[in-house]
Amino acid sequence: MRIPFNKPYMTGKELHYIAEAHANGHLAGEGSFTKQCHAWLEASTGAHKALLTHSCTAALEMAAMLIGIEPGDEVIMPAYTFVSTANAFVLRGAVPVFVDIRADTLNIDETKIAAAITPRTKAIVPVHYAGVACEMDTIMAIARRHRLWVVEDAAQAVMSTYKGRALGSIGDLGAYSFHETKNIISGEGGALLVNHPDLVARAEIIREKGTNRSQFFRGQVDKYTWVDIGSSYLPGEIIAAFLWAQIGEADAITRRRTALWDTYHQGLAGLAEAGLIERPRIPEECGYNAHLYYILLPDVERRSALIEALKQHDIYAVFHYIPLHTAPAGLSYGRADYALPITDNIAGRLLRLPLWLGLEAHQAAVIGRIIDALAG
Ligand SMILES: *Cc1c(COP(=O)(O)O)cnc(C)c1O
Repeated sequence: MRIPFNKPYMTGKELHYIAEAHANGHLAGEGSFTKQCHAWLEASTGAHKALLTHSCTAALEMAAMLIGIEPGDEVIMPAYTFVSTANAFVLRGAVPVFVDIRADTLNIDETKIAAAITPRTKAIVPVHYAGVACEMDTIMAIARRHRLWVVEDAAQAVMSTYKGRALGSIGDLGAYSFHETKNIISGEGGALLVNHPDLVARAEIIREKGTNRSQFFRGQVDKYTWVDIGSSYLPGEIIAAFLWAQIGEADAITRRRTALWDTYHQGLAGLAEAGLIERPRIPEECGYNAHLYYILLPDVERRSALIEALKQHDIYAVFHYIPLHTAPAGLSYGRADYALPITDNIAGRLLRLPLWLGLEAHQAAVIGRIIDALAG
């Protein structure tokens, strides 16, 4: 039996709600399913305003426009992240300034942020890697002191918290992903959380192609027209209907993922005690969505050997990011003022294990194969 790295989970209600959207006859964005998703996101995160987008990438692009990024502005972020974290700002002419990550959470090292700030710095973009929270109190304090915006890349962090607060709702803006590799999915999809009340009106305009269409539909203006820059960032109702089915099971999905995560953590404890791997560390203040389970091998050779050994048994474990400061576009558009030793080191050693609903029946075999390969 093939054990893929990811297998999108369907609740079984997706087609039911899609049929309902179809019957409603409203297929463009901002229909009843979109509004229900917005209401749930706002209620569950405490965000001032939630807006569905085509993707987390789109939400990050909106964020870059909203905070007024201009050519030459600098944006501080980790290099151990997905390309969209940087691209969204590069598209507005900004320079990503990469700083190193912490060895425990693999999140941006908050103690290294201050040294990266220059007169051109406009924002900090913490990325909650694996759905584990960055040290947000410290990051927010630095941002307030230097008058910088904070845009949370919470793509992996739906249902995760920091000191009881939803990730994505703490910075000025937060971006979620509902891509099929994430916990709660709509195929492609995302949301922008607007936590700063002053940004809401313009967020709606940017999302509606630079028009005041949202105000028009609420009867606040008597015609709608082009008022600002913007693009088409809202998904249609079919996507929102799919997402609504997933939202209905968000707690159950998180519980089942957490159980799978715990099973890996216990099953691999012996390897960690023997010094053959390191396991993830979740700080006390982080409520965790179990987005992914990774292990750290001693070096890239042993990681490649384990990937191969598992593949022999049709089990697919995968590494993660090529750090952005070493990627071709990162070298031309971004900058790292200091060495990033932890980023460089982790990138070669990290391995993500299969984690999807339905893996329960096969997980003992996966753990057994890993133990055989490393300690057999
Ligand atoms: C998945 C991901 C994204 C992009 O999400 P999309 O919805 O595919 O655009 C951005 N940042 C991080 C950290 C991600 O994991």
